[in-house]
Amino acid sequence: MYSFIKDDMNTIPIHLQTILQQIRDFESRYDRIPNSVKLLAVTKHQSIENIQTAINAGHELFGESYLQEALIKIEHFKKNINLDWHFIGPIQSNKTKKIAEHFSFVHSVDSLKIAELLHKHRPTYLPPLSVCIQINVSGEKNKSGIDPADVFTLAEKINSFSNLKLRGLMTVPAMTDNFGAQRAQLHRLKLLYEQLIQKDFKIDTLSMGMTNDLEAAIAEGATLVRIGTAIFGSRI
Ligand SMILES: *Cc1c(COP(=O)(O)O)cnc(C)c1O
Repeated sequence: MYSFIKDDMNTIPIHLQTILQQIRDFESRYDRIPNSVKLLAVTKHQSIENIQTAINAGHELFGESYLQEALIKIEHFKKNINLDWHFIGPIQSNKTKKIAEHFSFVHSVDSLKIAELLHKHRPTYLPPLSVCIQINVSGEKNKSGIDPADVFTLAEKINSFSNLKLRGLMTVPAMTDNFGAQRAQLHRLKLLYEQLIQKDFKIDTLSMGMTNDLEAAIAEGATLVRIGTAIFGSRI
């Protein structure tokens, strides 16, 4: 697998606690409902040991970006039925079968073709696969995510797939340390999310906010933040 930083100092539980406290503080600062923001711990390039440490600290919701790596971890922890694994990385067609079989939630759907394949491969003995549509809010070239203008068409298609359940929207904005610029980008996702709700889409997930823009995301209405570095340290 990868070379890992070992958590010799046992910092992971402390970092988890700190992030959860920050989330609660930001909820209150920005008039959000208490406990309305979920923490997805992003474990890409993290060792089984580090994930075990987070599980021992009581965490159950994990996000992975790379399929091969994720499947090893999911297999390792399969006896722990309380764990919930979300796929958040780029998706190629040939990965859709395993993703549809092994995850409960996919945040990174950004084409009709991928949605169709996830629907086709989702085993019917499992509940429908929860999905978010990934939006490119910054308009950067080579960035994953669809153009905001295309969201309604794709959302309607996804709603017609019985093995998928559209849950909301996700974005990875352009990197900036400027709080106002972070909020401006995330605000676009929030507006799109509200437009979908106005059009009667039954959605509940606004997936935005990473280590660098956690506060901006909660200020703009995130319901789920995806945090790696602030919990596990740098991924090398
Ligand atoms: C890696 C990753 C994260 C976590 O980023 P950090 O900056 O380490 O918190 C969140 N979302 C996606 C899609 C990622 O790939």
